[in-house]
Amino acid sequence: MSSLTPMLRQYQQIKAEHPDSILMYRLGDFYEMFYDDARSASEALSLTLTSRGRGTRNEAPMCGVPYHAAEGYIAKLLKKGFRVAICDQVEDARVAKGIVKRAVTRVVSPGTITDPAQLRPREPNYIAAVHAIGDPSRGRAGDGIGCAFLDLSTGDFRLAEHRGPDAGERLREQLAWFAPREIVYAEGVDPSTRPPIDAIEGPEGALKSPAPSWAFAHDTAYRILLDCLGTTSLDGFGCEGSPAAIAAAGGLVHYLRETQKADLRHLTRIVLEQASDSMTLDPTTCRTLEITGNARDGGRDGTVLEILDQTRTAMGARLLRDFVLRPLMSVAAIEERLDAVALFVGRPGERASLREQLSRVHDLERLLARCSLGNANARDLVALRESLEVLPELVELGIAFTTDLLTRLIAGLDVLGDLHARLASAIADDPPTTVREGGLFRDGYHAELDDLRSVRRDGHAYLAAIETRERSRTGIASLKVRYNKVFGYYIEVSNANKDRVPVDYDRKQTLVGAERFITPELKEYETKVLTAQERIASLEHELFVAIREEVTLAASRLKRTAHTLATLDALASLAEVAAQNNYVRPLIEDSVRLIIHGGRHPVVERLLRDDRFVPNDCVMNADEEQILILTGPNMGGKSTYLRQVALIVLMAQAGSFVPASDATVGLVDRIFSRVGASDNLARGQSTFLVEMNETANIVNNTSRRSLILLDEVGRGTSTFDGLSIAWSVAEYLHDTPAVAARTLFATHYHELTELALLRPRFRNLTMSVREWNDTIIFLRQVLEGTADRSYGIQVARLAGLPEAIIERAREILMNLERDELTRDGRPKLARHATGGQEKTRDAAVSSGQLGLFAPAEHPVVEALRRASMDRMTPLEAMNFLADLKKKVGEVDG
Ligand code: ATP
Repeated sequence: MSSLTPMLRQYQQIKAEHPDSILMYRLGDFYEMFYDDARSASEALSLTLTSRGRGTRNEAPMCGVPYHAAEGYIAKLLKKGFRVAICDQVEDARVAKGIVKRAVTRVVSPGTITDPAQLRPREPNYIAAVHAIGDPSRGRAGDGIGCAFLDLSTGDFRLAEHRGPDAGERLREQLAWFAPREIVYAEGVDPSTRPPIDAIEGPEGALKSPAPSWAFAHDTAYRILLDCLGTTSLDGFGCEGSPAAIAAAGGLVHYLRETQKADLRHLTRIVLEQASDSMTLDPTTCRTLEITGNARDGGRDGTVLEILDQTRTAMGARLLRDFVLRPLMSVAAIEERLDAVALFVGRPGERASLREQLSRVHDLERLLARCSLGNANARDLVALRESLEVLPELVELGIAFTTDLLTRLIAGLDVLGDLHARLASAIADDPPTTVREGGLFRDGYHAELDDLRSVRRDGHAYLAAIETRERSRTGIASLKVRYNKVFGYYIEVSNANKDRVPVDYDRKQTLVGAERFITPELKEYETKVLTAQERIASLEHELFVAIREEVTLAASRLKRTAHTLATLDALASLAEVAAQNNYVRPLIEDSVRLIIHGGRHPVVERLLRDDRFVPNDCVMNADEEQILILTGPNMGGKSTYLRQVALIVLMAQAGSFVPASDATVGLVDRIFSRVGASDNLARGQSTFLVEMNETANIVNNTSRRSLILLDEVGRGTSTFDGLSIAWSVAEYLHDTPAVAARTLFATHYHELTELALLRPRFRNLTMSVREWNDTIIFLRQVLEGTADRSYGIQVARLAGLPEAIIERAREILMNLERDELTRDGRPKLARHATGGQEKTRDAAVSSGQLGLFAPAEHPVVEALRRASMDRMTPLEAMNFLADLKKKVGEVDG
């Protein structure tokens, strides 16, 4: 180290504090990277790798990017999963003695992005922290896995704590739900007591970031949170009983303060997530129902959110996403939203005006966050000012909005007049993006700034004025005010007029024909002019930081206003969509009923456009029509029907109108789904195993208030195994009171329809089709009854399988349907059977596969039935009994 140049020594010292980040070291107009950082960055950014001090002992691999283009390069590094520490000069190079002082001014990582260019406006960007105390699986108070989720770009901050045997599973679900881009954990904590961070898959590519473990200790974490939120207790946030969550949150805030070098004053509240507040949607269900991401590539196209989101602000879009992903569990709260949506539906003119006003509002949450983190520029403040400008008009319009929720929102809307006035008087209309070069403020805002600007602007005129004045005062017509680099401003008088020079002139230089003088006034002016530009830049920066600080001080007020606007926007969007698509207001009740008439799938109906979507009814009730077994042909519309029923429930509880002619929804606490193939194949699990995992999750976690969608359960294994599992799952859901939830069960196992004969709460539905000339026409109407066949072969033909295959399949099917067997018991489909490859029917029976639905009688029962007691002597009876025991031993033991 001692042999290094002073610069590389400074570099090494700073780098040692940021071993896990790529250090961007400011050198002149570049950010340079050295050694391994240079190697990684040059590869990631396709930069040329050069070296510094080539051929010397201190040769260092190096690459660099121009400072003004740094943001783009940083974004690329973040995308590739790096953390980047930005090291700037922190003293003026002109006054520095020796090497200029440098320090890391911020560390950016995927979870801490606030640059709008790198964020999706309509989606949150979470960073998480996870911390375990004790043994979470034991479920004792005090033990638990705590997690904290924060969107630094908006200040949305949520905590959760899990305990009990499924704590790990809940954590995994929650991580999938929030999809944080970065997960913070306590460094060096005994791995047996911390959640297995490395094992947590988290969302794809989430960066794992260690933070010092002391910040996670309860008392420290608690203090960190109090300090950050500016409160004296956390009582008001309801998280006192969640020590692990507090620990995680404390650790997270510490990490962010360290990396952002900011106070995070835009974090004004924390919300403890309570499972009971909203409907639970696990990741599988979110995927199945394509709520926010489609099955194809996870994008927004073809999702429910794409249909429902007609919001005019990014804040509204994010809140609407939240509405949809957290359907409510309180009838009153849902009704409040529905009242508001109904009002907007009924008043298209006012809805349009409101939406027009909202479209002029910028992303207040992210603007505030950028102010709080010290990243906002003057254009951000102009955006803030323009947004606040709209509010008085909006309040005026809002007086007519007379539902409980809307009245409350409008009455409580803080228009932030004081902040608006301040910004309006201060910030120029079209300021530059940099905050260090002046031009940010209006004239008249600050006296000293005005002076400086007039000095700069009026420089020449002022000098001319001095010249004229001095000429008349001295009577020297040839007197001149001039400037040169050596003396600055001076007055020149020719030798002929030397005698008339006043005493207050101070002689500086004698030339052949003239003398040069200075005056205190001139010197004062000179200082002003020469330093004006510099001073303007630094004064404006100071004033700007102060005004940005003022915005941050209004954080709570701004956030409340932002939330109100977001709510109005989301509700108006729901109304807009309802009006456009002919949705109706659902009736919400605290029951286990679900009655839908004329229901449609909100996405499929839009995709079909001209092809009319066929509406369908659904009548369910956990007490009567609990389980609907839906059979019907492939392509008949079964999956669509299942999804549409779930989506109508979800939309209703989100407070939206629904695609139906009428709907009554008894509150659903959780939607479960086991539909279609899953994408876990990539993780090396078999289709069938995934299917069974999902099914296990359903039967283990469902309640009577849940809604279950099962599509072709058992499909991934042999017919008999699959049918058996499907049958027993259906029976279990029917017979076990605690899990007797409303269930839609789509299946190709027509045998399941027999359950309706055996159990009272099964109903059979079928997707209707019409056969015509050996082809089928899908009517897509759900009717009571059972399908007699699956029409798989017709669908295969539609798909273009060669006619030879179709014909042969038809032949095999006919044989199977007639249950025709050869004399030696082989199904006739084995046309070219080669010795012993196929199972004979007898073999199938003896292996027990057929026994599930017509169980063979137990040998003991059979023997008992056959035995005739009156003909037995007592000894024979004893022997018979002993025989039976032996049989039991043989069979059961
Ligand atoms: P499979 O058993 O092969 O999985 P399925 O019965 O689940 O098929 P779906 O995938 O739901 O069938 O539907 C097949 C196609 O039918 C869909 O792509 C959709 O375009 C159309 N469809 C479904 N329901 C309706 C409807 N109610 N009205 C009009 N078209 C519909």
